[in-house]
Order: sequence, then structure tokens, then C-alpha cells
Amino acid sequence: MEHRCGTVAVVGAPNVGKSTLLNALLGQKIAIVSPKPQTTRRNLLGVLTEPGYQIAFVDTPGVSHPKHLLGARMVQAAHQALLSADAVMFVTDVSRLPGEFDWRVAKMLERVDSAKLLVLNKMDRLPPQNVQSHYDAHCALAPGCPWMMVSARKRDNFDRLLALLVPLLPEGPPLYPEDQITDAPMRFLAAELVREQVLLRTRQEVPHSTAVLTERWEERPDGHVYIGATVYVDREAHKGIVVGKGGQMLKSIGASAREGIEEMLQQPVYLDLWVKVKQGWRERPGTLHELGLD
Ligand code: GDP
Ligand code: MG
Repeated sequence: MEHRCGTVAVVGAPNVGKSTLLNALLGQKIAIVSPKPQTTRRNLLGVLTEPGYQIAFVDTPGVSHPKHLLGARMVQAAHQALLSADAVMFVTDVSRLPGEFDWRVAKMLERVDSAKLLVLNKMDRLPPQNVQSHYDAHCALAPGCPWMMVSARKRDNFDRLLALLVPLLPEGPPLYPEDQITDAPMRFLAAELVREQVLLRTRQEVPHSTAVLTERWEERPDGHVYIGATVYVDREAHKGIVVGKGGQMLKSIGASAREGIEEMLQQPVYLDLWVKVKQGWRERPGTLHELGLD
């Protein structure tokens, strides 16, 4: 039987649902999701293995205006994924009209030779009276490109999406063992689940100024995993917000993150969190390196 295998870069503007789509396609959460732009900061591999094909998706940070070194690295990451992929899924939010960042991605894609698929996401939120006008406006981003309307949230049209995507991949044997879903270390995924809770619970500058690093990971004889992680923020005022009155905010961040980590590891977890101020970390190449963001 013919077997297809290749990499697919998942690119698009911030917040269109790239990470939600990846998690839903894999049937497992590996990428964190939030209503805030810039949730995804680096490329993340997600492997889907099915009879007859294997797809190595690469989720990427959204393409927008870089405001600091971190932002520039994020746009570079998306670029890099594009250049090395066999195919590209250009994801947009069809519930609204295309914006500046969608057009920026469209321009980037003009210079890419790989096969492309336009994925119009969030169809569950598209009002019936806007279907035709939004469809036309989004297809103008990539004229002549095959397209599919989906809902990552409701898993609508996934079969059709995969039916279009798989034939774009080269023939070849699987590249990853069939039980491998990502190459990101558990320490990184655990830190991301902590950061996700910060993103969901704080506002304005705080989510963007936060980074999380797993410092300790110890398997305990009683079957627990002990995880110690540091939440870095940019300013003293942000530390106050993340810790909260009497430590309440940090407590709820920790409790929800622990639930997510336990689900991922299928094992009880003891999670210890510290908050530290590291001014200007988004501009420091050394810190970005330490956080795996280069
Ligand atoms: P990314 O920045 O492109 O990776 O977007 P995320 O996956 O982080 O999602 C951004 C927001 O859009 C989150 O609040 C998601 O829950 C929401 N979202 C993603 N896909 C859908 C969808 O198909 N329908 C709806 N209604 N919301 C979605
Ligand atoms: Mg994302």
C-alpha cells in the first residue's frame, strides 16, 4: 500500500486557532491555547500517524509586528517552518474579514514553493449572512489555492481537510515511531501549561511579559513527580499581579496547571512555583536561549 509522509507548517496571523487546530487534529493537547495573541512562542512538532500516512505538523507563532527580540525570533520561527515544510496550512479566522497580518502571511507564502492549503477556521462562528462575503475575502488571500472551511473547536470537516492535505505529501515511510506525538520535552510542555494559566488569568502586559522555566523534575518513590518551576516576569508590578493577594493568584495558577500536567503525565504531580523578576528578558539573547526561544 502507498504510504505518504511529510511535514506540514501551520502558519497564520495570531489567534486564528492554529494551536487549537493542531491539538484537535492530534486528539491530544500539546500546544497551549488562549484568547490572547502571541500565545505560541516557538515552533512545536505534532505527529499524526494513521494507516497510510504520517503528518509531522509544525505549529508556529503567529505572524505579526515584532516589538522586541522575542517577537522577531517568533516571526523567524514561522519563516523557518515554512521553508522546510513539504506543505503549508495557511490558517485564517473566517468569522471575521482578513486583516493586516493575514495579508502579511499571504505575502510570505507567495515566495514559498511548497504545496499550500488554505484553512478557513472558526466556521462555527461565521454568521450565515456573511458566508459568501467572508469566503470571497479569505480566498483572495491565496488565489487558486485549495481550501477547506473547518471548526477546530467542533472538529468539523477534519476528514475533508485531511483528504486534501495527505495527497500533498510525498510518498515515503514514516519518519517517527507511531507512538511519538511530539519531540518537545515534558519539562517544556509542563512549563507551557503553567504559562497557559497565567495567560488565561491575567491581562494587558502581564501575559506577554511572562515566561516559565522548569527548574526541577524528580520522580518520587511514592509515584508522584515533583516539579519546580519559575515564572519570570518583566517588572516588579507584574510579580505582584501573578502572586496575587495573599498568594491567591499563584495558588490558582498552580492548581489548574497541576491538573493539566497530571492529565498529560497520567501521574500525580506536586507543583512548586516561584515568581522572579527578570527585567527586559524579552530582549536578552541569553535568557531566550535558556527558555528555548531561539
Ligand atoms: P493561535 O494563536 O492561532 O494558535 O490560536 P489559538 O489556538 O491559541 O486560539 C485562539 C483563540 O481562538 C482561543 O480562544 C481558541 O479557543 C479560539 N478558537 C480556536 N479555534 C476555534 C474555532 O474553531 N471556533 C471558535 N469559536 N473558536 C476557536
Ligand atoms: Mg498558537
